[in-house]
Amino acid sequence: MLYEKKNRREAEYLEPIFGTRDEDEMLPSYKLGEQSMEPRVAYQMIKDDLLDEGKSRLNLATFCQTYMEPEAVKLMSETLDRNAIDKSEYPRTAEIENRCVNIIADLWHGQEDFIGTSTIGSSEACMLAGMAMKFSWRKRAAKLGVALEKRKPNLIISSGYQVCWEKFCVYWDIELREIPLTADCLSLDIEKAMAEIDEYTIGVVGILGITYTGQYDDIEKLDAKLTEYNKQTEHKVYIHVDAASGGLYAPFVEPDLKWDFQLENVISINASGHKYGLVYPGVGWVVWKNKSFLPEELIFKVSYLGGELPTMAINFSHSAAQLIGQYYNFVRFGFNGYQSIHKRTHDVAMYLAEKLKESHQFELINDGKQLPLVCYQLHPDEKRQWTLYDLSDRLLMKGWQVPTYPLPKSLDNQVIQRIVVRSDFGMNMAHDFIEDLKVEITELEQSHLVFHEKTERKNYGFTH
Ligand SMILES: *Cc1c(COP(=O)(O)O)cnc(C)c1O
Repeated sequence: MLYEKKNRREAEYLEPIFGTRDEDEMLPSYKLGEQSMEPRVAYQMIKDDLLDEGKSRLNLATFCQTYMEPEAVKLMSETLDRNAIDKSEYPRTAEIENRCVNIIADLWHGQEDFIGTSTIGSSEACMLAGMAMKFSWRKRAAKLGVALEKRKPNLIISSGYQVCWEKFCVYWDIELREIPLTADCLSLDIEKAMAEIDEYTIGVVGILGITYTGQYDDIEKLDAKLTEYNKQTEHKVYIHVDAASGGLYAPFVEPDLKWDFQLENVISINASGHKYGLVYPGVGWVVWKNKSFLPEELIFKVSYLGGELPTMAINFSHSAAQLIGQYYNFVRFGFNGYQSIHKRTHDVAMYLAEKLKESHQFELINDGKQLPLVCYQLHPDEKRQWTLYDLSDRLLMKGWQVPTYPLPKSLDNQVIQRIVVRSDFGMNMAHDFIEDLKVEITELEQSHLVFHEKTERKNYGFTH
């Protein structure tokens, strides 16, 4: 009897997934199911549940990495179980994090005395850098007799900031002084930024580059202005560079650009490992020029091989897999590897920009010269019966996800489309995309012919 029962259960395992009873039932959603189910069925059901979601590699909206080599994926899968914070238990992992910080600080021309850490992403990194700026400012200001209680401290940044800076200012009670982007200046307006500085300014954030348009703030010019400013006052003001996307891109593509620790007033920098560091989300990095810009009280000690290791983080436990993935990329690609990958990405962005220009439908706001992204709006044309939103919809029918959205405040009457080029979006894919784009624009142009029957069918725009 018992024997037979066992046999039957085994037989169930042999059933095709789409013939099992489990597969027939609704996937538990807001309440745990009562019984367990076979792993292969659970796997298939969840996989199917995700089936109609966009394909990440066709998502042209994101800076976040959507491809890693199979060896990297293997290594990361095999190290998912390691908790990055257990430095005593996993001292080799701690050393790998340390190596990555050193490699990154070197790319940013860090001098001997730098200090840095990994984070979950740039948001956590900006939070830490912002806190360090606030604490350092408070110490300097208290010494100089500034009435700390009289006003809120403030932070100066262009209105092209990523939302993490708004979070930082809300969470830590800072006034966000945003310098509006204008049609003539799609990055930080340095004169206006300088005019906003006062004794309560914890720092100025320069962005490399702006999420919306891909443009870099002119950090070198900002630094020169601050050098002048700092010469004539005791109330020193310094720069943090939010290099979430540019930090692991510019050193390879524009090695002569001065934006990092080479500049006197740049005291901290962050970058996302999961953007042009080419790692799956989430890993980020923040480095301070030297320990004097990272107040002691923000550093905590965790036990490490019987000793203590200083750490600074908002999160505690998280997997070490991303750190190990970052180190894999550094070891595997080297400087030349990153450079050739990023240069190719840059070429693809320039190619897209050129093809978009040829269409005579678009005005380019950014042509991929800095960050490899193209950003454009429609040429004004009274006869045109479609919008960028319609074009997004049409492209989605082919699987391409291309976002349409308004620029930030003060320019929000300008609706743009943005394509972020990543390493896994090669020339062939770009070519396919342009072909699809041509077809969809022709479709949109012709759908309006229904209402204007006399107009002839034309192949709009592109040269071949
Ligand atoms: C992406 C981005 C962030 C946030 O980075 P995460 O790594 O996603 O947390 C912050 N600032 C800028 C400029 C960015 O582009």
